[in-house]
This record gives sequence, C-alpha cells and structure tokens, in this order.
Amino acid sequence: MTSHLIYPSTNLNAIEQLEIVGGEGIYVVDSNGKQYIEGLSGLWCTGLGYGNEELVETAARAMKQASFSHLFAGKFHRPAVELAEKLHELMPVNNASVFFGNSGSDGNDTLVKLINYYADATGQPQRRKIIARERSYHGITVAAASLTGLPANQKHFGLPVDALGILRTHAPHYYRGQQGSESEDQFVDRILADLEAQILSEGPETIAAFIAEPITGASGVIVAPESYYPKLTALLKKYGIWFWSDEVITGFGRTGNVFGCTTMGAPEPDLMTTAKQLTSAYFPLSAVAVRGDIHAAMLEQCGQVGIFGHGYTYSGHSTACAVGLKTLEIYQRDGIYQNAAERGVKLQAELAKFADHPMVGEVRGKGLIAAVEVVANKETRAEFAGGDGANRVLKHAQDNGLLLRNTGGSALAFCPPMIITDEQIDDIIDKFGDALDKSFAELT
Ligand code: PLP
Repeated sequence: MTSHLIYPSTNLNAIEQLEIVGGEGIYVVDSNGKQYIEGLSGLWCTGLGYGNEELVETAARAMKQASFSHLFAGKFHRPAVELAEKLHELMPVNNASVFFGNSGSDGNDTLVKLINYYADATGQPQRRKIIARERSYHGITVAAASLTGLPANQKHFGLPVDALGILRTHAPHYYRGQQGSESEDQFVDRILADLEAQILSEGPETIAAFIAEPITGASGVIVAPESYYPKLTALLKKYGIWFWSDEVITGFGRTGNVFGCTTMGAPEPDLMTTAKQLTSAYFPLSAVAVRGDIHAAMLEQCGQVGIFGHGYTYSGHSTACAVGLKTLEIYQRDGIYQNAAERGVKLQAELAKFADHPMVGEVRGKGLIAAVEVVANKETRAEFAGGDGANRVLKHAQDNGLLLRNTGGSALAFCPPMIITDEQIDDIIDKFGDALDKSFAELT
C-alpha cells in the first residue's frame, strides 16, 4: 500500500486492502491466489466478465491501427461512426443522436450542458431546471454530483452548484418511504402528487428534464413500485418535461431487457446516459443520447455560433469505440441479453427465499441486479448502527469467496457478470446464505 495514492470512494483512514491481480470469467483472484466470484461485476460494469480474448484483441488491433484518433474539427474514424449508428438502432430514444465521453459522470455533465444549449437554441432561456431524486447517484463530476442525491458526494465539496437549478423530489422506495399503512399505489400517488405540486410552484415552463436511474445502484438498488414509471412519465408529458434515463448501470441487458427503462415501464426516454457495460469495462467509454429533434435544434444554433464548443479529448476514442462495437456484437451474437434475462429470473427467485431470514428487511431487484437489505429489527425496519450488520455479512461473504458491495448503508448489492450460469448462481446463494447465518449468530 502506498501512502501517496488517494483512493476513490473509500474511507481514507480505514482502508481494508484486497489486491486483485487477475480474473477469468465471473471470477477474480487476489495476490494470495484466492478466487472470488465478482458478485458486483467490478463496479457494475464487467458484463462479459474477465479475460475476454476477443475484446483484448479488438483493443490491441485498434491501438495498432491508430493509437489515437479523435472527432474534433471534422476528423473522424469508422469505429465512432459505426458505434453511433449501432446505438441509434438500439436505443429507445426517438431518432437518437449520440455524443461520446469517457465516464457516466462526464456523460451526465454533457447532457446538463445540452439542456442549456437547447434552451438557448429554441429561445426558452428559462427552461433549464432539472428534477433529480433523493437517494440517486449520477456520478461525481461537478454537475453530475449536483444531480446526485447522496450527501457524502456533496458535503464538503461545495455542491450542489446552485446555478444549475437542480430540484429534488422523493425516491420511489416504498419499503423506506411508506407512510402508515399506505399501499404501494397510494405511496406512488402521494409522491407524484408532491412532484406535480412542485412542478406547478416552480413553473412547468422553467423545467427541462427529470433524471432517473430506472433501478438505482449506489443508493441500494431501489426498485420502484410497478405503477410509478408509467404514472411518472405521463405526468412529465403533461407538462412538457423530458424524461432522462440514466442507464449507466441498467443499460445493455442488466435488468432483463436491453435498457432498464423498458423493464420499468418508461420505454420512450428523451435523453439517455450509458457507460460501463457499453464496453464491458474493457475501455472507458460513455455514450449519451438525445432525441433527433434536439440534435436538429443544436445544428441550427451551431449554424449561428459557428462552433459547438463542447468535447473531450477522448470523445470517441478510436479504441474505446472499437471495443464498444465488439462488446455490443458479442452481447447480441452470444445471446447475452437472453442469458441475463433467464439467469436473472433464477437469481431473483433464489434471493427472494432470504426474505424470511430474521436479518433481512427487503429483497429487491430485476434481472441480474438485486439487493438484500439487512435490518436489526424486521418489525421496525431499523438498521444496525453504522451499517454493522451489512458490513459483517459482506466480510463473511468475502471470506467465502464472494465479493459484494454494501450500498445505501445496509443493502448488499448483487450484479454479477451477465455470462453467469445457473450453477454459479447456486454458488452465490450458498456463499451468501452462509455469510448471513454466521453474521446473525454473531449479532444475537
Ligand atoms: N450514473 C449512474 C446511474 C451510475 O451508477 C454511475 C456510476 O456508478 C454514474 C452515473 C457515474 O459513472 P462513472 O463512475 O463512470 O463516472
């Protein structure tokens, strides 16, 4: 361990070190040769697992051909153009046009800027506000972290930036947000009535978009009740507010459909952010999409200004785009979307069996993304102080050779590579069940 490395998203004073030195399929190996199932696909990103030779060869070939090729000022290359066409076909955004970056965070920053660009282009300078939800995660760059609704990502960093005009509304988490004995539908109607009141008091003409992760990741894999997204999108439509689907985790098969918005009943987003599984994390790449008419307005505006003044050095890096194209080809060619959907049914059914465990408050998920929320008291839904319960299970799972992540304080997240088999899911369940029982025995 070096003292000159500042670790990302870590308790800088209490680093529990695990040196990962290799990986194959759904497994990674530490420096002592111990093997683990990567139950979170790294950081929700290694959809095709580790050691995929085709992707390594694709990256090497692309680098040999042109170690760097960009898209500024009229330069272009085939991988970027072809990947944009492929995403245009695949994405449910109407007549989508895409912009490339390097990470989910910078993708979200791009869309914040495009919302403003469009507002100017169409003579609606007031239409810039964005509604984001509590307990959301949209990344950590300055604009993206302003959209994020988790205190740790804002406190002490001078965020959110007030000038961005970000409004906050409820998280659609029934288990934690239910009031009294209200039903799921009553919960949805209440939080959407609050949203409508907020839209009216702010002025609908001042609000451009509503951003949501179809299923959240970092905040604990929150799955909204079934009626939430259909009612939400109808409400947004009523006031001319765009639905912005942040698919950085849920994109490319994770929830049982190619995109999470389809799974959750919001099938026609106006804006979309993708990254992570777009390249199965073999190379950093993000792709954000806007509706065709939004792109058309940008073209018109640019005609007057002369230059579209936004772009990263690595926007459309040729290696990243080649790897992205190959990843999407493998997903389709090898039936990975289908596998994720089928194995996802099994994962959810097996995890649901833990719902009766005395330390489990809620089991939730769709496809190959899930969480088991650990509680100290099933009746009151109280959490263990300092996340102790979930952290203990996490540690025992790791000892058993299963890497998971504690998200949202007390929810253990599952997001295994989409190449997983039924037998490997059984192995996850055995290792996890044992970790849960050991933790319960220690804590009672
Ligand atoms: N949006 C969502 C929904 C995410 O889950 C993440 C990262 O986990 C991001 C955005 C930010 O992506 P990145 O870490 O690549 O910047």
